Amino acid sequence: MSPAAFCASLLKWYDANGRDLPWRHTCDPYAIWLSEVILQQTRISQGTAYWQRFMQAWPTVETLAAATEDEVLKMWQGLGYYSRARNLHTAAQQIVALGQFPRTLEEIRRLKGVGDYTAAAIASMAFGVTAAAVDGNVYRVLSRLYAIDTPINTTEGKHLFTRLADELIHAAPHTALSPQGEETSGASLFNQAMMDFGATQCTPQSPLCLLCPFMEDCEAHRRGIAEELPVKLKKTKITTRHLIYIYVRCHGYTTIHRRGAGDIWQGLWEPPLFENQSLSQWPGHLRQLAIGVKHVLTHRILMADFYVLDTDQRPPLPDDYIWVPESRLSDYAVPRLVEKLVEMIA
Ligand code: SF4
Repeated sequence: MSPAAFCASLLKWYDANGRDLPWRHTCDPYAIWLSEVILQQTRISQGTAYWQRFMQAWPTVETLAAATEDEVLKMWQGLGYYSRARNLHTAAQQIVALGQFPRTLEEIRRLKGVGDYTAAAIASMAFGVTAAAVDGNVYRVLSRLYAIDTPINTTEGKHLFTRLADELIHAAPHTALSPQGEETSGASLFNQAMMDFGATQCTPQSPLCLLCPFMEDCEAHRRGIAEELPVKLKKTKITTRHLIYIYVRCHGYTTIHRRGAGDIWQGLWEPPLFENQSLSQWPGHLRQLAIGVKHVLTHRILMADFYVLDTDQRPPLPDDYIWVPESRLSDYAVPRLVEKLVEMIA
């Protein structure tokens, strides 16, 4: 199948099956960038609600840049991977300092937190640049179509699939109508179509091969190995950490501090935490709230114990702890694990 034939079939598939998402009705690079950052590691249904809330609170890059990091983290709460929110905020300030949203791949790539994939997605969708946005969906579709077993998380694999995707996107028409009937660049439609095709048709498990326009040309389908592709090298070892949180309650106030750099949840707030330490130095009677609460992160499993200390005297704590009325605790961005603790207290 020639690249031009592939593009024609893909865009035809997209015309009939493309998802109607709010950021696909705009060329505003800010709105598109925001959607891309939110949707990394997040399902569309959940991400769409966050995107709408962000756009409502901060409709332009200038308004986002003027927000405080705390406000941005608070709005982000529940999405996880908080470095994305911090980078988003920093990059908004970079863009304001530049005077306009950068337009070329290289300039967009220089924004904090923006990798090759996001830069290509923004450049193609906002400015019509012919650049393939190669994400997990694209790796999967291409590895199956051509039955390529080069691991996708190796330099060789990345180069190979990027080259292949680039070759295909260059065969896309200059412009075409989107499924919503709007004239759009072919590069933008190609990238959107690949995302949707990978997400809804050529899915990780049980791809819909029998309804696929590429069924006859797909090498993996022909060999019956679609679900074995793509190949990924296993590298990361999952580690377990044991955390103990103490929720201190003193005359309607509780105490929290902000997590520093160099570990998970940088910039979020939490109650006093013990990790690999004894609780014996704590004054007063600790009431056990929950033991062994499991929380799974990408490369770690956290096992947490929660305790409550009801006290009339504020215990001595390091300087970075602040005391906040319990009724105002929800103003602070906290990790999901701490949210579980607060839910148990309520
Ligand atoms: S035939 Fe199956 S494996 Fe091949 S591209 Fe289509 S959905 Fe994916």
